[in-house]
Amino acid sequence: MLDDLRELYQEVILDHGKNPRNFRRPDVSSQEAAGKNPLCGDQLVVYVAVDKDDNITDASFLGKGCAISMASASMMTEIVKGKKVKEAKALFDGFHKMCTLDDFEMDGSDEDEDFERLQVLSGVRQFPVRVKCATLAWHTLDAALDGVKEISTE
Ligand code: ZN
Repeated sequence: MLDDLRELYQEVILDHGKNPRNFRRPDVSSQEAAGKNPLCGDQLVVYVAVDKDDNITDASFLGKGCAISMASASMMTEIVKGKKVKEAKALFDGFHKMCTLDDFEMDGSDEDEDFERLQVLSGVRQFPVRVKCATLAWHTLDAALDGVKEISTE
């Protein structure tokens, strides 16, 4: 990866880590799940509101953890808001692949724009321990959508 690209990625992560978006309790009633990553000490609660047509109308989180876990949660809440539940699940699947496989490729679908944004976090691929930090929020969102109250990466 080019050095200045890496620098840009780090800046984005630090920005989201320091000033997480949607870091709040939701205004409307919602489903929630708690997720923890004991390996790093990351802990968060993800709130998600879904309307009767399976649209995610709001997503937010609270918690504490390393910059990567906070940045990932922050970006995730921005990205999934306005999506269908099944689109959010497809994004989780793609993001997980992006963080674990060397040969992840975007396929020209509508999701590519979101994957491009998430790519700043895919550098964790080189640090397996960090993959759990980056995917914690997504695992927790997935649990909330499925009505599961609590998950752990261990
Ligand atoms: Zn972490």
